[in-house]
Amino acid sequence: MTYNPGAIVPDTGIYWCTVCKLPEQLNAGQKFPECRNMCGRGRWEKVEQPKE
Ligand SMILES: [Zn+2]
Repeated sequence: MTYNPGAIVPDTGIYWCTVCKLPEQLNAGQKFPECRNMCGRGRWEKVEQPKE
């Protein structure tokens, strides 16, 4: 599942850009930002993490 910049973040967690894999902590309810590396077609994908 990937998300465009501007979409609402569904779950708090770590997401990364599908192009450059730059990870970012995002909170539910905020909008996905543009990738900081300005990847033109960058989308966001949740990075699955083991439960602690
Ligand atoms: Zn990127």
